[in-house]
Amino acid sequence: MTPTSITPPKRAAELRQLLNQAAHSYYVLDTPTMEDAVYDRLYRELLDLEAQDSSLLTPDSPTQRIGGAPAQGFASVQHRIPLLSLDNAFNVDELTGWYVRLAKLFGHQSNPKTPQPDLSMVGELKIDGNALALSYEHGVLIRAATRGDGANGEEITANVRTIASIPLRLQLEHPPAWLEVRGEAFIPNRTFADINIARGKRGDVAFANPRNACAGTLRQLDPKVVASRQLDFFAYTLHLPDNWQAKAHDPARPMNQWAALQWLQAIGFKVNPNSALLPDLTAVENFFKLWDEDRHQLPYATDGVVVKLNDLQLQETAGFTQKAPRWAIALKYAAEEAPSKLLRLTCQVGRTGAVTPVAEFEAIPLAGTSVSRATLHNANRVSELDLHSGDTIVVRKAGEIIPEVIGVLRELRPAGAQTLKLPHICPECQSDLVREEDEAATRCVNSSCPAILRGTLRHWVSKGALDIDGLGSKLIEQLVNRGLVQSIADLYALEANLLASMDRMGSKSTANLITALQASKSKPWHKQLYGLGIHHVGAVNAKALAKKFPSAATLANVACKAPEQITSVFGVGNEIAQSLQQWFATPANQQLLGKLKQLGISLEANEDELAHDTDQNQRTVSLQGQTFVLTGTLPTLSRSEAQALIEAAGGKVNSSVSKNTSYVVAGVEAGSKLNKAETLEVTVLNQEELLKLLAS
Ligand code: NAD
Repeated sequence: MTPTSITPPKRAAELRQLLNQAAHSYYVLDTPTMEDAVYDRLYRELLDLEAQDSSLLTPDSPTQRIGGAPAQGFASVQHRIPLLSLDNAFNVDELTGWYVRLAKLFGHQSNPKTPQPDLSMVGELKIDGNALALSYEHGVLIRAATRGDGANGEEITANVRTIASIPLRLQLEHPPAWLEVRGEAFIPNRTFADINIARGKRGDVAFANPRNACAGTLRQLDPKVVASRQLDFFAYTLHLPDNWQAKAHDPARPMNQWAALQWLQAIGFKVNPNSALLPDLTAVENFFKLWDEDRHQLPYATDGVVVKLNDLQLQETAGFTQKAPRWAIALKYAAEEAPSKLLRLTCQVGRTGAVTPVAEFEAIPLAGTSVSRATLHNANRVSELDLHSGDTIVVRKAGEIIPEVIGVLRELRPAGAQTLKLPHICPECQSDLVREEDEAATRCVNSSCPAILRGTLRHWVSKGALDIDGLGSKLIEQLVNRGLVQSIADLYALEANLLASMDRMGSKSTANLITALQASKSKPWHKQLYGLGIHHVGAVNAKALAKKFPSAATLANVACKAPEQITSVFGVGNEIAQSLQQWFATPANQQLLGKLKQLGISLEANEDELAHDTDQNQRTVSLQGQTFVLTGTLPTLSRSEAQALIEAAGGKVNSSVSKNTSYVVAGVEAGSKLNKAETLEVTVLNQEELLKLLAS
């Protein structure tokens, strides 16, 4: 990803400086300045540059250091055995590379997927906390230290004594003169949410993630504060004196990592129950995949799995690199954020004419797909980001969510870079773009703009609307570009031989399309209404409106003459009433309805629908006295639609969660309200559950 315009030495210097600054904020100040995944990607870029040209490797490179310097206020302690970091693998190929290198060390050359009994592995969850080294003498905890720079850590014994899951005395009858246990101190999700709520109340800045909150807590000078934060601890590494053997009833000295975990549990430690013994790479991949989904149900944060060679003797033979053991690797889950180089700023015109600025950038793998374009929402967002040519941007894509640009790494901005501005004319029809004073969106208001037409047609044929199979975006583009279709109605006048002459259309697909168009004429009235794409009229509202006004003619009449009847519909507010009024009053739309009617599209409810609706209307919904809080983005309902639906059923929507809240309705990227709901044990609903509740 090295930008072509910059030399490798300059890029390496730039990355060193940026990463060292970020590491200081992260490890020393416990306030990260960038997402972990972004740090990881830039770190990997620096590693690659150093691997390609060793003269670029300098002693101050972050690739040569572990963690941060010990914080002031704590004594520094030297680790008996260095406490190193872990190498990362970001995909299965990198994991395989690690295993092949390890197998070679032990003289195995065969297919990495073939099980090698002596090279079996243990898979553990990578808990997102802080490593601790706990020293016991004659079975008693005498010292606890952070990882620090790997050689020296901070002595935090008094704080660690407050962690209830760390035994102060081991359950061994004949403990060795010394032993060291390592593991992860962490803050459970629920406690993390509470800490941030309390910080918010005091006006303190919230911790960015549980790991930083944990690090900040461990470095508290007052152990009482540490105790109040209820840290937890999972043990995962054991160091015993050479030649020590158990006596009497004590559990025998473990010879492999799997047995070490059982041993740690037997002597009083909490060990993560989700570890597994994995005979080969296929088992590792399955373990990784299993936890990719299930980890979200865990009460603590994880960011990957750690794979360790099981045999402790072989671990010792494999040894360490300067920063990490050769016998273990952290396989990280797909990043949802990554940096990339901005190539250009373009615009996309939607079916309502709204112009969405789009950033185009060098392709990057994100949440399992390759991404090279991301939305910038609106002009305000573009100004906020203050994008410049050649900027390194941070892109996020979580699951099914459309990628978005969430930030700019200003430190990497090329000297003399120019500010990027949004165009003032529509990229499709070249007409001037319009921005209403109180609207964030810029619009193309030319109703014959090909982009608006394409969007309108795509919406009409979409699954939620008329569901017309065989009329995809490519075909729509050809029909619009050749001037063959100027409105929805024109679709129904297309002749078979013309359709068959289009790219990638054969006689069979043409016949199927003609049949699908015919069949769409008798689709339910609410689907036709939704398909018209009237601003603010989503699938749910279209259904509610169609139920009350069983034809386009009645709806048009009411929209123009008695809009108050529109707002009396369950879940429909003023915005929708105004939008309907405007739409039905526009002559071009009246003509469209006329044409559609002539073509045989019913634009009214059939007998079945009417009978069903009467049946439904018998039921009344009452959420009287119930309070709701909305958080995150719901799949299809906008915030105002959801609120209107709840209020129409007698419920009340509040902005903050308390123990009196009846329900929290949570969508994607739900924030602290969801955490609070979980803490207060308030019932959380998704959109589907809300709709079920409203319909019950
Ligand atoms: P790491 O977090 O990638 O992995 C090593 C650590 O994993 C260990 O020290 C241990 O604490 C932990 N761990 C959890 N479960 C474990 C298990 N079962 N067995 C063994 N270890 C386990 O490496 P790191 O050196 O601690 O931190 C580097 C990471 O920190 C980077 O990958 C980056 O994501 C993050 N970081 C972010 C920034 C930023 O600005 N956002 C800056 C510096 C570092």
